[in-house]
Amino acid sequence: MQLHGTSRINEKGHLEIGSCDAVELVNRFGSPLYVMDEALIRERMRRYVKAFQSTNLPFQVAYASKAFSTLAMCRVVAEEGLHLDVVSDGELFTALQAGFPPDHIYFHGNNKTPQELEMGLEVGIGRFVVDNFVEMRLLNELARQKGKTVRVLLRTTPGVEAHTHNYIQTGQEDSKFGFDLVSGQVLEAVNSALQSDHLALEGFHCHIGSQIFEVDGFRMAIKKLSDFARECEETTGFVTRILNLGGGFGIRYNGDDSPLPVEQYVEAIAEAVRSGFADAEQLPEIWVEPGRSIVGEAGTTLYTVGTIKEIPGVRKYISVDGGMNDNPRTALYQASYEALLANRAPAPPEETVSVAGKLCETGDMLIWDIDLPKVKSGDILAVSCTGAYNYSMANNYNRVRRPAVVFVREGKAELVVRRETLEDLTRNDRLPERMLAAEPFRSS
Ligand SMILES: *Cc1c(COP(=O)(O)O)cnc(C)c1O
Repeated sequence: MQLHGTSRINEKGHLEIGSCDAVELVNRFGSPLYVMDEALIRERMRRYVKAFQSTNLPFQVAYASKAFSTLAMCRVVAEEGLHLDVVSDGELFTALQAGFPPDHIYFHGNNKTPQELEMGLEVGIGRFVVDNFVEMRLLNELARQKGKTVRVLLRTTPGVEAHTHNYIQTGQEDSKFGFDLVSGQVLEAVNSALQSDHLALEGFHCHIGSQIFEVDGFRMAIKKLSDFARECEETTGFVTRILNLGGGFGIRYNGDDSPLPVEQYVEAIAEAVRSGFADAEQLPEIWVEPGRSIVGEAGTTLYTVGTIKEIPGVRKYISVDGGMNDNPRTALYQASYEALLANRAPAPPEETVSVAGKLCETGDMLIWDIDLPKVKSGDILAVSCTGAYNYSMANNYNRVRRPAVVFVREGKAELVVRRETLEDLTRNDRLPERMLAAEPFRSS
């Protein structure tokens, strides 16, 4: 397993993160446990900012909160001076509860409800990224009722889709998100926005994919959007002031992944914007909104090994005390993870095993085929790169409690999400009166 950030193996042969011994963390907080390397999170944020600073172009970096959203995380984002993107009232509420400045928040989503739009308007969030015509009309109307003018970007689908190792050009892009560029919907949306007296159009947004390892997709999207911006200015007079290129910068989950350093993505983006807007009076601000690449490698999940089952000549299953309820990504996307035994990290690999969860689904697997030392019940298994889309996708399937989350830093571990209790699981349940009145068991 590749060690990320402050992770290292200590003198006891234990995994250590943020100078905290993983075995001690499990003793203190229980397992499964999400451990977040705060220094690595902050380092990633600073690298984006620094990389943009050295391009000398106007920019803004936002963190995509859907990757991992908690009060403490929002605080870190605010402390580092990044902006925040949210896609629901829940993510917005979390940010506000953390004291995040509303004007540094922007609202995404292809089906923001009227209540969500109103909430955003009321608290005065910075921008709405308008996804479609229905939303545009509704937002303008709600803003009118409140006597406000709101700043908006238009979400576009530029006909470029990036996949991990390549990109494809699609004509009419078949996506639920955004206004389609090729068919002329974006131009129509610009005209519509310009005619909406309570919307102040500032620019365009696109998000071409996730876990992207190349810069070509970004280049192509920028080319298409800058060509469009030029035409749009000629026909409507609208000058693009903000170009938001979304997130999607890749991370290294395992040896098959070869992400570029943050600086390379940023330089390529800056270069493409410079040349795409070469004849513009003023370059637009470049915005990005990374999620995974900020928190992904900073997260490690610690599990305790329970039962072990060997099917001779077929496979050996190692079962841990979590599974697809704390990490659904293997089941959902055939995601692949690395792991080590946190309590005896230097032991050499001896066998190939598969790591299963404890939930009632055959697909409840965390890792297929990994080489590990001879695993024993009670060992602590550390799975790396679980910082993004793990806690945020966690669920209570099988009424399994969601794990605690700790931030580790300079030898201190602090709880940022407490482990769910059994009481939490029935907290929202209600027994109808008629059931309360009756005897729970019929004695026939
Ligand atoms: C998911 C998403 C992001 C973040 O993507 P990552 O791959 O986590 O960087 C940014 N912007 C939008 C609009 C998204 O949907």
